[in-house]
Amino acid sequence: MSLPAVLPRIGIFLLVLSLLTACSNDRAVVQGPPAAGEIGAACTSDADCTSDYCLLDPSFQDGYCIQKCDANPSCPEGSTCHDYFNYKFCMDRCDADTDCRKDYVCTYGVCRPPCNNSAGCDKGDTCLNGHCKAKCTADTDCPSGERCQDGKCIPPCKGDSDCLPGFSCDTSGNCKPKKGKGMGEACTSSSQCATAYCLPTRKICSINCKGSADCPDGYVCGLEAFDKDNNGSKDSAEADCVPVKGKVAAGANCTADASCASEHCHYGFCVEGCQATADCQTGQRCVELNILLKGAAPKYKGCLRNAAVGPYYPLGTFPNSMSTFRGFDIPPHAGSFILTTEMNSLSEVPLVGLLKDPAGKTVMTMDSCYQYSQPNRYSPREQFSTLLVPNTTSVSVVPGLYSYTVGSSDGKAVTAKLQIKLGKAAKGTLNLNWFFLNLASTCIPGATLNASSAKSHAWLLKLRINLKAILTQAKLTVGSEKFYDLKDPALDVLNLSMTGLSTELQKLFSSSNKMTGRSINIFFVRDIKASYAGTVLGIAGGIPGPPGKHGTVHSGVAMSMKTACYEPYGYNPAHTLAHELGHYLGLSHNQESEQVPGFSQSTNQVICPCPCGANMTCVTKSGKSWCRGEDHIPDTTTSSKNLMYWAAESTQSFDGNQLTDGQIKTMLNNPVVGF
Ligand SMILES: [Zn+2]
Repeated sequence: MSLPAVLPRIGIFLLVLSLLTACSNDRAVVQGPPAAGEIGAACTSDADCTSDYCLLDPSFQDGYCIQKCDANPSCPEGSTCHDYFNYKFCMDRCDADTDCRKDYVCTYGVCRPPCNNSAGCDKGDTCLNGHCKAKCTADTDCPSGERCQDGKCIPPCKGDSDCLPGFSCDTSGNCKPKKGKGMGEACTSSSQCATAYCLPTRKICSINCKGSADCPDGYVCGLEAFDKDNNGSKDSAEADCVPVKGKVAAGANCTADASCASEHCHYGFCVEGCQATADCQTGQRCVELNILLKGAAPKYKGCLRNAAVGPYYPLGTFPNSMSTFRGFDIPPHAGSFILTTEMNSLSEVPLVGLLKDPAGKTVMTMDSCYQYSQPNRYSPREQFSTLLVPNTTSVSVVPGLYSYTVGSSDGKAVTAKLQIKLGKAAKGTLNLNWFFLNLASTCIPGATLNASSAKSHAWLLKLRINLKAILTQAKLTVGSEKFYDLKDPALDVLNLSMTGLSTELQKLFSSSNKMTGRSINIFFVRDIKASYAGTVLGIAGGIPGPPGKHGTVHSGVAMSMKTACYEPYGYNPAHTLAHELGHYLGLSHNQESEQVPGFSQSTNQVICPCPCGANMTCVTKSGKSWCRGEDHIPDTTTSSKNLMYWAAESTQSFDGNQLTDGQIKTMLNNPVVGF
């Protein structure tokens, strides 16, 4: 719309400019290659030239009619007195190469032999396509709109951000050095700094940044939390160039600020500032993060990997309190996370009492009886409890600040940790550690199964193939497999306790303490006995078990080799193992036994009376009514063909290895499952 108005004005401006050029400059005469005998013309002897003499230097192709001008600077028309290295010569004046003879170029306003390198140019200038590119000394030496800085023509600055740290953009678009202390030097006020900014958190001269590329060498764009309103607590955050501290680069795993180059570990990942994904390394994205400070949660953009599993990030050790809310930040592309609580006790239970999403919606609240009705199910256990979010397709991870409370069954302090899985996994890898107790003379055919026979043991090979077949439908592949013997006769046969983990089971799972990394421990024992139940085929350390956390009383799944005894009747032992691994990854039974959780066989009393909440069914027997648990994953049915059916019955579920889409997604959410 504004074009018609602007165009005539540009035309007028150009016209005035060309008039000025014509009037104020003595180069009114149109140049062109020199005529014979004129300065710059070819020659073979002085006689060919009207000027002083014919320069027959090898660098001057076909000779050059020339005249010295060191004594008298006035030169014949069409030539100008020019500094040619250590000489002063009248040389053929030009505006362009077309003004020069063949084999000569227009450089410094005169026709000279083309340069081969910078040695052929005045000191400091560069040779480009035979032409010397002169250093600029003033803005008028530069193309229209550009300015001369340090001998180079650069576009004018629009603001201080166009200038280097310690320079500011003045009103004419020039970056001018500021007076004061340099980057990183100690300061007490911003006025002391050339950068005009004294970083309050560190008392050093610094600059704000949009990404690490904005920062000088030795600095990264870090997050600095500070006390903006000066009330004694940090309430604000900003991105500033900070000296590189730790060795861990942006996006990599961390458990403490000090290990990060940026000195900021954001819930398990080293973070550096960014404005857009282009500011981040390949495989990373620029996402909005919330910095949880006292009384405030400033937003900040940082680079995080597209897909990654973080470490167990310590949130802190907190006193027992179901009324104190704490928080953590979940990035926008997190697929899932686990919140764990632990305490140094084998009998007391550390737990999360309440978890709310950033919108304030309850994800889980402790209710021993109606836990089955929680949006996100949770089964806290002794010593170490794991809350996987989400463990159903009806709960989504919401980016932002989650709030939670922690407590324990004995009122003692609890340590909370967070592990975030970035990206949604469409498939995964499970690493397995196999532990063998003394399995001599069990129903396993062939040689005794142990660490040395394991790799080629026909029975185990078949079990591993069958296990992989079940896991394949869940898009899980088995990664590394390691085999160990566990020599402890007291653990060959496990006795379960009705009230909690038996000391045998605690000892068994704890013996994984030498394992490292993301893997699940599998223990093959001779038998598992429970006075309160029938034949126990297997047991998992938790729902879910501690992902990639070894040495706790829940770190593994155990399987009875009695399963091998049922094989001749059509039972598939891999079913038991897959079922327990399903628990360990976070799957509940699709249907519980009739008594769970509502009725106690030992006391013959109702524990959870009807009416029941969601995902529970009322059972009525002998005049008593109680609630029985079902899965909370919406697409899971109570079919005995499902892998997570509570029992293995010859008539129903000997081949029940089915998994629903919701169950598969839940398994893939677990951080122990690698990408
Ligand atoms: Zn089970």
